[in-house]
Amino acid sequence: MAGPNGHPDLEGVDPERGGEALLDQFGRPLHDLRISVTDRCNFRCQYCMPKEIFGPNFAFLPREAILTFEEIARVARIAAGLGVRKFRLTGGEPLLRAELPKLVAMLNEIPDTEIALTTNGTLLASQAEALAAAGLDRVTVSLDSIDDAVFRAMNDMDFPVAIVLEGVEAAAAAGLGPIKLNAVVRRGVNDHTLLELARHFRGTPHIVRFIEFMDVGSTNGWQLDEVVPAAELARLIDGEFPLEPVDPNYEGEVAQRYRYRDGAGEIGFITSVTQPFCGTCTRARLSAEGQLYTCLFATHGSDLRAKLRDGSSDEAIAGLLAGIWRAREDRYSEIRSDATVTLDPRPRVEMSYIGG
Ligand code: SAM
Repeated sequence: MAGPNGHPDLEGVDPERGGEALLDQFGRPLHDLRISVTDRCNFRCQYCMPKEIFGPNFAFLPREAILTFEEIARVARIAAGLGVRKFRLTGGEPLLRAELPKLVAMLNEIPDTEIALTTNGTLLASQAEALAAAGLDRVTVSLDSIDDAVFRAMNDMDFPVAIVLEGVEAAAAAGLGPIKLNAVVRRGVNDHTLLELARHFRGTPHIVRFIEFMDVGSTNGWQLDEVVPAAELARLIDGEFPLEPVDPNYEGEVAQRYRYRDGAGEIGFITSVTQPFCGTCTRARLSAEGQLYTCLFATHGSDLRAKLRDGSSDEAIAGLLAGIWRAREDRYSEIRSDATVTLDPRPRVEMSYIGG
């Protein structure tokens, strides 16, 4: 039977309601769980974890506050019972979390689910094989520029492009390709290097995706004039390498897909600001300390850790999760685009805390 989006695998099954689909206030099923495994990162991108705030005195989460692998796997299993079909490990930088392949192996035991990872790629070369062997299905690597000087300046820790490219190669060799490469575009910062990025990966199976700079968190000094609309970027790339649109892989896919007309591969655009896609958002996010968020732009989450640690049963936690999802009415990005609505002035959760 087709789900509310006409897509069979988007059905969230709610055991609490005798197998009825678990839907939020706008009829969206719970399909994806993004799991942040750490709030720490080895990059200090100005737009995400600026050094002025995330400096030597910043209080990152203490070890005991962070969910154990067993706790994460338990939430994941319960979420799968409510319809989640995809887990994405993120952070912070997820590969900083010790023994991550162990968590992947635990998630891999949950039937009918896939496991993806979003990473900056700097530690991927040494870990790709173990991650693949543990059951990781796919990797997305963040790479904002192929220009070494621009990239070093953007990560603000002087990491070279070469180390990320080695990670991409290792992941491809481990069978984790085709790899998606995500570049956040900021006008005047890296937009002059994006054609070069597209050119670098043309003719490979890897897919570069350009992301509009978003107003996540409260520390990145976001300005609308720094957002390069995806349509502008698509015109620029099309002028050099003619493009044609490709149908989405599934309803609700975040990236708008294009392929080069000469057959040299695929690219994508994530239009989070100019064409928000809240209507098909099926994602929940679990922070490293076990707060559950139903929107990337949320101002507050729900504390699952307390339930995981107070002897609550799986059924009780499933009930809590189902209740949170059923009550969900987030559609921040659509509201942001609607000038008649005043946005919630409370500080929003940081991307480095909640995961991308
Ligand atoms: N450390 C990992 C990485 O670099 O991919 C995972 C976490 S990181 C927060 C996930 C993604 O969020 C990265 O691609 C990053 O560039 C993106 N990101 C962070 N802040 C952003 C913003 N304000 N707008 C758009 N993307 C952002």
